[in-house]
Amino acid sequence: MKVDIWFPFYVNDYIADTMALSNREHGMYLLLMIHCWKKGVIPKDIEKLKKITKTSEEDVSFLIGILEDFFEEHEDFYINNRLSAEKTKAENRSKRAQENGRLGGRPKEFTSIRGCTAIKKQLDKDWYEMVLFFDNKCLCCEEKLPEGAVPLMDHIIPKSLGGQLEITNIQPLCSGCNRDKSNKHTTDYRLKFIEDIPEKLKSKWFIAGKLEETYRLKLENQNKTSSHSHSHSHSESYKPPEKKHKYGEYNHVRLTDKQFKKLEEDYGSIHLKELIVKLDEGIEIHGYRYKNHNLTIRKWNPLNNEKPTIKSKELTGTQKEIEKYQSYIDSDVFPEDEKIKFRDKINELEGSE
Ligand SMILES: [Zn+2]
Repeated sequence: MKVDIWFPFYVNDYIADTMALSNREHGMYLLLMIHCWKKGVIPKDIEKLKKITKTSEEDVSFLIGILEDFFEEHEDFYINNRLSAEKTKAENRSKRAQENGRLGGRPKEFTSIRGCTAIKKQLDKDWYEMVLFFDNKCLCCEEKLPEGAVPLMDHIIPKSLGGQLEITNIQPLCSGCNRDKSNKHTTDYRLKFIEDIPEKLKSKWFIAGKLEETYRLKLENQNKTSSHSHSHSHSESYKPPEKKHKYGEYNHVRLTDKQFKKLEEDYGSIHLKELIVKLDEGIEIHGYRYKNHNLTIRKWNPLNNEKPTIKSKELTGTQKEIEKYQSYIDSDVFPEDEKIKFRDKINELEGSE
């Protein structure tokens, strides 16, 4: 199923948001939304924009008004956050439908022991045990999926590298993280939570002997970091994923220690506390979902939808560059192999700071 042939149109929201528009502006707005749905972003190029929206020279100022009011401006493009979120949902649905199709059956309704309804795919009930154990969360970004949705079954060792569809090789990820991981690495995000997993489940989810090996490597790795020794060994290939900690009264905001420290440096601890409260409450009240809380805090003031607190000219050149590449990675426009290059760029820049 192609995901770009239709998109959800929230009639009442649209009417409420567009009260002040003329019929000409309605046309521009709708054509821009359609373009954004199909391409992921809207180019920041006035000639292209005129073509997309069939706008004449004398109406360009209206067009710019529409962009400013309804789309978020990035360095090289505009984006509509709500449409992007809907598109991710549509891709998720489509992927799930494909998987169900491959397994030869329609999904069956199923009510979990914790009361949240999820769609049961005809797979081993071990998978549902895992999804329930992790509370319907994506193990990578640690976002809980909305009620009625289930995480995707990610192959830890990708299928293309010979990974099997079995409980020792699958983990729940959201569609965004699943797409980012793709077949680029074999990170087992379940290991982030290894201390919380009871023995009974550990013996089911991990291949006997392999977990002990992983522990040993992890331990060696920790010792190595603490002693700052530069000796090389095969354990270097094991990099444990960084654990995110919960912040805010409702525990919605998740940041790694490194991210928190950097934010504290950039914003000061009092202001950072305020931003965390706002983001935390925004998620609690409106059910907003963000993949990257670190970036969300940096980008905008969550409740009022204000512009970033740090004006872009106050950012150092390096930070600006990092944000630019991050926005490329977060958008849908670039193919995966391009995104790898952007990620390398970010790593390079972060190293140089
Ligand atoms: Zn995720």
